[in-house]
Amino acid sequence: MRTDIVDLAYLVSAVGFGLSLKWMTAVVTARRGILAGEISFAIAIVATLINPAITTTGWFLIAVALALGTMIGIPLGLRVPMTAMPERIALSHAFGALAAGLVGVAHYYLTYHSSGKFETVVLGVEVTLGCLVFTGSLMASGKLHEVLPQRPIVFPGQNFLNFSVLGVAAAIIIVLMFRPDTTWLVPVLVVLGLVFGVLLIIPIGGADMPTVIALLNSYAGLSAAALGFVLNNKLLIVAGALDGTSGLILALIMCRAMNRSFRNVLFGAFGQLDESVAESSEHGQVRSASTDEAAEIMKIARSVVIVPGYGMAVAQAQHKVRELADALEQEGVDVRYAIHPVAGRMPGHMNVLLAEANVPYDKLLDMEEINPEFPQVDVVLVLGANDVVNPAARHAKSSPIYGMPILNVDQAQCVMVVKRSMRAGFAGIENELFYNPKTLMIFGDAKAVVSELALEVSGQLSH
Ligand code: NDP
Repeated sequence: MRTDIVDLAYLVSAVGFGLSLKWMTAVVTARRGILAGEISFAIAIVATLINPAITTTGWFLIAVALALGTMIGIPLGLRVPMTAMPERIALSHAFGALAAGLVGVAHYYLTYHSSGKFETVVLGVEVTLGCLVFTGSLMASGKLHEVLPQRPIVFPGQNFLNFSVLGVAAAIIIVLMFRPDTTWLVPVLVVLGLVFGVLLIIPIGGADMPTVIALLNSYAGLSAAALGFVLNNKLLIVAGALDGTSGLILALIMCRAMNRSFRNVLFGAFGQLDESVAESSEHGQVRSASTDEAAEIMKIARSVVIVPGYGMAVAQAQHKVRELADALEQEGVDVRYAIHPVAGRMPGHMNVLLAEANVPYDKLLDMEEINPEFPQVDVVLVLGANDVVNPAARHAKSSPIYGMPILNVDQAQCVMVVKRSMRAGFAGIENELFYNPKTLMIFGDAKAVVSELALEVSGQLSH
């Protein structure tokens, strides 16, 4: 009877996970998606706890793990800024994968005398994947957090070494399949998995780490699904498969948006920035403007398009942006937002921030929608965005962002760029947009500048 309840609960959570992913694909339904995911997780955890297989000792250990996890998880979740989400997510993958790997190892030692060949292979793959995702995700998080060098580390014979490590791991799994009692090979497999995780990440530059993290997420999902097969846990199979495929799709979308080859992300050896590009770009005249000049221009414009980027996220300027938009709309200006798929530091970053400031969804336009309209736009206000509006992506073949689709803001009548200095963005390259005769630079912190602009436009600042 209790087993039936558990199975039913697992079925409900599996459906809930599917719906959660579906709802998270649109901004309007995203909150519902998160809630569905949380409820499904809660049901899955309760169902697992009432599983008749859990003994009293099991309950005690689970309670200790739950208390420890909560004590670490809550402060971590509260303190990590949104801009540091990718490295925070990488840490979650690392520990999730470590858990999956360790469960796999424990299961092997408990059952190797009675397990079949297929089960052994799946378990071997699961342990290898779990271990490689653990060290790979730690490396990715360290690179993003800049505690490890961001530049790719490449050395002769690297691919040979990588494939050799993988080859030895595969050979060990085959030996275990025929001689499951050679249990001393399991720790060797664990070490090879851990080493392979490091080797996989070192040739990849920091710029590609968020994509790599999505990919590691996918590997972690595969590892969980494999564990589900071994433990005969259907929910783990479904959840792992969903995790694996959604991570893979996300990595593919990010590669396309950044014009990266997916093969290169898989096999590394890219991400090196072409320093010569920064050196060689021709410098024109930079024109700067004060906030009152900028406000005057915006007030007489018919249409203003705001392009948010990483700087808006850092400055937490989204609420002030909403105030500015309200003030402009009061003046009869049409205000819209242009959203680049990789603006900020994680997919959907700008959508989340603008939704937090209650910006209406229908004012947010994707790159494909807004790009043909830029020639008719009077003013574009670029807020802490840099790479996603860099025209070099369209024509400078030697640029590391060459080929990345960008927002064609340089086609608008007037471009205003809010940032603190002439410093480069994530890709580390200069932006010719700043030297365009149509561009006015407004130097300062995005939040401070935008709140002044809002006051200027609404006439609350006297000079
Ligand atoms: P960028 O990183 O290109 O530029 C951000 C700009 O914001 C900087 O030039 C900086 O200039 C400015 N800035 C920083 N702090 C502030 C502040 N407080 N106030 C005002 N300005 C500030 O950001 P984009 O959003 O244009 O591009 C995103 C980049 O990140 C792309 O290269 C993309 O490929 C990459 N990326 C994005 C991912 C995603 O999923 N979204 C994932 C992985 C990478 P200054 O210092 O002068 O103020």
